[in-house]
Amino acid sequence: MSDLLIPRLRAHGESIFATMSRLAVEHEAINLGQGFPDDPAPPLAVAAAKQALDDGYNQYPPARGVPQLLEEIATHQRQRYDLPVDPATGVTVTTGATGALAGAILGLVEPGDEVVMFAPYYDAYAALVDLAGGVRRSIPLRFPDLTVDAEALAAACGPKTRVIMLNSPHNPMGKVYTPAELEIIAEQARRHDAIVLSDEVYEHMTFDGHEHTPIATLPGMWERTITISSAGKSFSVTGWKVGWASGHPDLVDVVAGTAQWLTFSGGGAMQVAAAEALRNTDAIVTEMNESLLRRRDLLVEGLSAAGLTPRVPEGTYFVVSDTSGIGVDDVDAWCREIPEAKGVAGVPVSAFCDEPGHGQTLVRFAFCKSEERIREGTRRLAR
Ligand SMILES: *Cc1c(COP(=O)(O)O)cnc(C)c1O
Repeated sequence: MSDLLIPRLRAHGESIFATMSRLAVEHEAINLGQGFPDDPAPPLAVAAAKQALDDGYNQYPPARGVPQLLEEIATHQRQRYDLPVDPATGVTVTTGATGALAGAILGLVEPGDEVVMFAPYYDAYAALVDLAGGVRRSIPLRFPDLTVDAEALAAACGPKTRVIMLNSPHNPMGKVYTPAELEIIAEQARRHDAIVLSDEVYEHMTFDGHEHTPIATLPGMWERTITISSAGKSFSVTGWKVGWASGHPDLVDVVAGTAQWLTFSGGGAMQVAAAEALRNTDAIVTEMNESLLRRRDLLVEGLSAAGLTPRVPEGTYFVVSDTSGIGVDDVDAWCREIPEAKGVAGVPVSAFCDEPGHGQTLVRFAFCKSEERIREGTRRLAR
């Protein structure tokens, strides 16, 4: 990283996903690291995107998003979760979920304010909190049970807590927080008058009867939760970068008020197509989840055969495995070696942790890849 970059960002270096994907390309390795799907985008979404370009959606969309997408997001939240989202005041479209996270954190966190999050966490959370000058307080989720430690959470929260970040279903662990765990978090938010930033980009990817519950549906949480999602993960279109925040108008105003100065708006035609995809959510995700479940089981089986100890995830498209069984106790170094040594790329969970040693023997592999690649990737790992 250039020394011209401000030190608090320089410390974050290059995103681990970028590093591992670069190594995968360099060594022609099978990339089970970065979570972009091999799956084609839903044909109806691609057709809608082409049509939108032909229809002239080629100039700035409204800052908050095209009306048909705002309407579909509000309908989705109302029908699925019974959340009273108003399309005119309770939604804003952003440049991916990342744009909504940035808008929320930069718009809410003053220097010195504390932001509580569970580790491992999505890497952008830490970088954005540092960019805002906030102070990160992280609580470890312990592998393999990953339950929320109510005492540790209570100890991390206090009068300086401005935001509690939540990501369920959880990347990288594949954990779906239970309603009881959500209540433990909600209680702390209410007690300290904190705002919950709930990253729900994997809301549709749950398996084996586990169900996603938005924390905004809990008592007293509607007025203190910003809910974030994105078309990227739900519809296998990560390159579109169409995300959104929804919730109480006063909270959504924070995201919109900040995001207007970051990117103003973007991806007009893609927003129109995302609206079409959202209108067909059930059909798209039902088909995708059937195939994802097959691939999850294939990856878990292949990793076990390679001597790793995988945890079967309840959601997302990631499997985290313990590497101690194959004698790896510095997973960061191992992940930098294996693209060349084994022809496979994964992501070290330690990159998303704060506590020394946490995640040192945990690796994340993605199963949003073709069955062929999952089979060959795990065969290579076993060699
Ligand atoms: C992929 C991902 C994001 C970013 O979503 P974009 O829409 O690509 O910006 C945010 N949070 C989590 C947990 C993710 O896995």
